Parts: sequence; C-alpha cells; structure tokens
Amino acid sequence: MGNNTGSRAYKGNILYSKDKDTLISKENSYIVVMDGVVKEICDQLPNGFPKENIIDWGNHLILPGFCDMHVHAPQFLQRGVGMDRELLDWLNTYTYPNEAKFRDKEHARKIYSLFADELIRQGTLHVNCFSSIHYDASEILFDILEQRGLFAFTGKLNMDQNSADYYIETTEQSIIDTERFIRQHQSDGNVKASIVPRFSITCSEKLLAGLGRLSEKYGAPVHSHMCEALNEMKICKELFPDYKNGAEIFYKNNLLGQRPTIMAHCIFMDDDVLELMKNPNCMAVHCPEATANVNAGGIMPVKKLLNMGINLAIGSDIGGGANLSIARGIATTIQHSKIRNMFDPQWEAVNLKEAFYMATRSGGRFFKNVGAFDEGYYFNALVVDDSSVCSDDMTPVERMERFCYAGDDRNIRMRYILGKEVV
Ligand SMILES: [Zn+2]
Repeated sequence: MGNNTGSRAYKGNILYSKDKDTLISKENSYIVVMDGVVKEICDQLPNGFPKENIIDWGNHLILPGFCDMHVHAPQFLQRGVGMDRELLDWLNTYTYPNEAKFRDKEHARKIYSLFADELIRQGTLHVNCFSSIHYDASEILFDILEQRGLFAFTGKLNMDQNSADYYIETTEQSIIDTERFIRQHQSDGNVKASIVPRFSITCSEKLLAGLGRLSEKYGAPVHSHMCEALNEMKICKELFPDYKNGAEIFYKNNLLGQRPTIMAHCIFMDDDVLELMKNPNCMAVHCPEATANVNAGGIMPVKKLLNMGINLAIGSDIGGGANLSIARGIATTIQHSKIRNMFDPQWEAVNLKEAFYMATRSGGRFFKNVGAFDEGYYFNALVVDDSSVCSDDMTPVERMERFCYAGDDRNIRMRYILGKEVV
C-alpha cells in the first residue's frame, strides 16, 4: 500500500467528464492529490514540489475509476448460463437455485471474495449491488466490500412472493432483517446499506409498504428493477391492479424519489414514469448486456433520458450480463444505442462522451465526489497502459475509446482508491 498522507502528484494523460457533453483531456499533466483528495490539475508543479512525491506514469492514461451501478453479487458464478431464456424463465431455472446457495456462509465468503476481486481487476471502484435474501451472507458481502476499500451500496434482498419455495422469506422476517441490516450499518464509511426489493412482482404490497417506512425512518436509499421486460410488466399489472404501473407501486410506497433511488433498466417508461424519474434523487441504470441476454424486448432510450435530464449510469447486471467490465459497458451502450436508433430514428445514438460520463461522473453522483477529478473529488483512479498498441497520432480520447472497445483488465496498470494503491 502506498502512503496517502501529504501531497502527491500523478503525471500522465488525464481524462474525465465535466458533464455529459464535455470530456476534459489534459495531456502530460499532473493531478495534485492531498490526503486522497484532488487539489488541482496543472501542467507544471510549483517550485520545490518534492520529487519523491511525483508518480510519473509517462504516456499512460489516468481515468476515474468506473461505477457499476447495478450488479448482483451472488450471480457471479452463473454468468453466461441460460442466456437463451427470457427473464422470468431464467430467474426460475438458474438464478433462484443459485442464489439459494448463499444460505451457506462459507459459500458466500468464497464467491463474494471472487466477485470483489474481479470488480477491482476490471477497474470498478464504485459499486451498487444486490445480495441474496440471506442476512448473514449480506453481512459477509458488506464486510468484503469494505475490506477491499471499495465505495459501495449494498443491502439484504427482499422477496416474499412469486419465488421458489426454497428461496423465499416471510413478509415479517424480511422487514425485521432489513431493519437490522440498516441499523447495523449506520456509520459513515464508504460502504453503505440500502434497501433492495428485488422487483415489484416478488414483493407483496405489505412488504413494499414496510420497506418504504424503513427508508423514511433511516433515510436509506433504495435500489431495485423497474420497467425491465414486457412479460414482467404484464404480471406486475395483474398483481397490483390498483396501481397504474410499476413505478407508481414504488412511488406510493415511499420507494421512489423520496430518498436516493436507483432503478435498473427503465426501458419501457410512460410519460408519468419519466416524470417521476426526473427527480434529482433518482437514477436509471442502463444494463445493455443484460437487456440483450435475457431478452427484455427492448433497449433503453438512453438519449431521450439524457436529454430529459434524468440521471443515468451503466450497470453490468451480472449474471444477466456476463462481463463485469464497465469499459466494455461503455462500448455496449453505444452499440445498442445505435441499434435502437435504426428502429427509432427520432432518438440519436449515444456518443462516447455521454457513455463515458454515465460510467464515471454520472454514476458517481450517488456516492458524491467520485467519478471525476474536480477539486475536492476523491482520487479514485485507474492508470491505463496501452503502450503495446500505441501510436503517436492518436489522441488520449481515441486511446480511451480503443481501451473500452478492444482493451481489457490487462491494460489497467494501477488502481487508486483515496490516493492509495490497490494491490
Ligand atoms: Zn438486475
């Protein structure tokens, strides 16, 4: 571990988003960091800056660490399996039997360690993740994320209906365990507890109402899925006839926008749902690979949501997605957006600046002061080495793009969290 006390200056080609339309590129510059926090970016250090405090990464890129804003930690081992099924069939056939195994604490410890290692390997330093319904395993996941130094939100999953009889909880126990989990994690670390109802059809109205009360009582953020797949939305309508749609179910039960709220997918959204999601407390997470794999029937209209000012991020959504790389998620976001544009030309495809923004600064908004290199932001960063394929005529932005499309974790030479080397 490096020392994070005092000033350090990291030299390289620095790239980060200012906003969705602006990518800042500072070639051969220094990021000056004090106690893990960015002080300034400059092309020359002040006279007398101690040489031993300069970390020179030469021609490498220095990028903010990525944000994976929707991922299922217990599905780490089922990635890439059953990808020819549709969502509900896939959940019943693969996901529920797999997640039920996390009643075993040793299994949880083993898989969650692998999961955290892979996140870091892929350059994800900020993560918003589901666990399983098991209290003990959820605690284990929380501890492992914290031990690795990641910035994270996680919670005990809630599910009291429409699941397999071997993987379900009672309404009462679900609420009791959730409150216990939140109370256990009231301190101000970088890993925080959230409330994670799986999705509306696996939660009774009584459970959702109870979780909404907990969110209000403890100010706890909410993380769930919404407007994901056509058949899921049809069942939701049948189960909750008194509500207009899945968003209203969450909203009226205090689980959408009253506190920070992250909703994965948000593909099929009526105008009233879009209005609810425009709330600055809310964030919609685009999970392109998972959407394609479990056949939701559509692609998020990313450009439309961006133009409306809805907060957006990218999620790997493993095991629906098979790849934990958010760099790859940037590429897939652009690819899928171009496909959507072919069928719905009124919305342009997303460009690189927008997709990179979603994967870094925009997702980072949920944690505050991560995902960019403004003064006061945490120096949570990646050093990308593409020297084996580098040519002088490429700009840093083009090199970053190539890393997203054609690179992988082997290009990530160093990861920093709060200015400390992650090893
Ligand atoms: Zn998911």
